[in-house]
Amino acid sequence: MEKVGHMLVSGPSITQKEINYVIDAVKNAWYENANMYHERFEKAFASYVERKYAITLPSCTSALHLALVSLGIGPGDEVIVPEITWIATAAPITYVGATPVFADINPNTWCLSAKSFEECITPNTRAVIPVDLYGNMPNMAEIQSIAKKFNIAIIEDAAEAIGSEHKGKKAGSFGETGVFSFHGSKTMTTGEGGMLVTDNEYIYRRVLTLRDHGRPPSDKKFYNTEIAYKYKMSSMQAALGLAQLERIEELIARKRLIFSWYYQELSDINDIILNYEGPYTKNTYWMVTIILNKKFGIKKEELIQQLIENNIDARPFFYPLSSLPAYKKSEQVDIAKKRNLNAYNISPYGINLPCGMNMSEDKVSYVCKILRRLLSL
Ligand SMILES: *Cc1c(COP(=O)(O)O)cnc(C)c1O
Repeated sequence: MEKVGHMLVSGPSITQKEINYVIDAVKNAWYENANMYHERFEKAFASYVERKYAITLPSCTSALHLALVSLGIGPGDEVIVPEITWIATAAPITYVGATPVFADINPNTWCLSAKSFEECITPNTRAVIPVDLYGNMPNMAEIQSIAKKFNIAIIEDAAEAIGSEHKGKKAGSFGETGVFSFHGSKTMTTGEGGMLVTDNEYIYRRVLTLRDHGRPPSDKKFYNTEIAYKYKMSSMQAALGLAQLERIEELIARKRLIFSWYYQELSDINDIILNYEGPYTKNTYWMVTIILNKKFGIKKEELIQQLIENNIDARPFFYPLSSLPAYKKSEQVDIAKKRNLNAYNISPYGINLPCGMNMSEDKVSYVCKILRRLLSL
């Protein structure tokens, strides 16, 4: 078979527009213009995700950290997260001294199960962090109504889902705050970077203070009111982010197109499940993902190894957080392993396929041909 070159799971689309904006920032975003790109990027981003406020940050991890601090969450508090996500969703819970509680996923969306979320609630639960996994959306309406009933704050981790929608509302617009990542692997990138969005003026002002060594905005200079953090994005990154945001519909269309090529090739195979797009949902397919039927008798690590030997990069579906060595001392682990059966049943058989912005229809065909051969289909 003809060789198509190494295909990566993720990677951005960078055009002359991004280059021009970054060059302009390097040249001009100093002195009285030092914040011009931050201001434009934050304003455009807030408007895109239909929020009042947006704050640029150096990563989504720092956005999650400040979301928790601004909500006053700390030792003794519990925060519920889905089992299946990148560890960045949960690690900041430990930074603030609170306890992560792992809830199961819904078997179709692979996102937080509303039912499992409700089962995990205790008198100590202060917040929940639903994750818009791989560009899909959980059942936010249900999660919101449970959170409201028990007075639990929602922090929506929309790191993987810019532009996704649930019931006509954009990812990141649910809950007290929404957070985004602009890591190089994400649908839009600033190299490294993140954004926190909210409609709540208290949280907005609190986060501005916390990310700047405890200096409230427009307060007395160099007169810090508390010990806090230094979490800022540079102008060059903000310029790159603005250019990417101005192309966001194109980037999302590209992700959906790449998924549609895989769908054409693989959707007739009953024993492979692809990303799901439920009613009332727009999935932006950050990661094209397949779950193999157990009957193939092949686990994700083995298949990934075989794909790599064919120049095809692939990643494992996230391991359940409670199965990671990082959490082996957590008291939550035993109960999570018994409770979260969907996560434990699905994860061993899932992989992410190459879906970087540079994928072409030919490359997708090649990946699917190799996949069929490896699975004897
Ligand atoms: C990428 C990602 C993050 C972390 O983003 P960083 O910008 O790398 O800190 C958080 N949550 C999820 C679900 C992610 O995929």
